[in-house]
Amino acid sequence: MPQGLVLVDGLRTLSDARRALSRVQATGRPVVAIVVTHPHPDHVGGLAVFHQAYPTAPVYANVATAEFLRTDPLGFFALTHQQLGDDHPLKPFVPDHPVAPGAALDVGGARLESAEFGAGEAVTAVAYYRPDTGALFAGDLVGNHVTPALLEGHTCGWLTDLDQLRARFPTAKLIYPGHGAPGEPAALIDAQRDYLRTFRALVHPAIAPSSPAGADVDPAERQSVTAELDRRYPRPPPGGLAARPAGPQHQRGGRRAARGDRRQPAAGLPSLTSRVAPTSAYPAGRRAGAGTAA
Ligand SMILES: [Zn+2]
Repeated sequence: MPQGLVLVDGLRTLSDARRALSRVQATGRPVVAIVVTHPHPDHVGGLAVFHQAYPTAPVYANVATAEFLRTDPLGFFALTHQQLGDDHPLKPFVPDHPVAPGAALDVGGARLESAEFGAGEAVTAVAYYRPDTGALFAGDLVGNHVTPALLEGHTCGWLTDLDQLRARFPTAKLIYPGHGAPGEPAALIDAQRDYLRTFRALVHPAIAPSSPAGADVDPAERQSVTAELDRRYPRPPPGGLAARPAGPQHQRGGRRAARGDRRQPAAGLPSLTSRVAPTSAYPAGRRAGAGTAA
């Protein structure tokens, strides 16, 4: 049996992380490791708080995540710092223990398997699986009744990631998603897939050369796509994500997404303003203690 707690991701803000830390500390158990799923600000902004509290606990992430955090190639951290001020570090903590693709980790006596995924919800992602319990920590590859963040525009890659996630961990009993409640793997993966396919099908006619704005998505087309998405996927839960990016990046992302292009987003900062700190959707203990292991 594991000898402590494993934290999955680090929340968005330092204040969120401090609140979660107090709940972790209240368990009286040590933190033996921190594992990072992907380099989005709402998953790493508070890592430094946990690292300071448990400096000997290794912080694991794959090489691409560490590099993204070090270099901020899309300007996510600069933008988030601008929006949140000192509650979000300009320079996020960079995990110091690389996870090789497919590596298994020994965390406090527990075995965690991992799988690395290509550009999808994020430019890179790692899922962690605990075979002795069937718990799969999938990061943002899967959400549960939250609007997916498509700001990086890789819907085709994301669909591929979902196929691989299912194939790689066929014995998973429960997925702990990046946002929303845990759920049955097939149901959550199918729902995620359904949303992405629907989004692509709705955007596709808007980017057809014969459409009003040709390959561009004009405001009317965007409004129509958004209205249809809202109709089919009503009412994100309070505190969940409303993460369809706003502004020009939305157009670029949508167009790229529907074409299945896996290039990096065009220059320009995607709007993160619609994203909500995951703690509002999560009991802190679920996220911070997600890998818990008593
Ligand atoms: Zn994400």
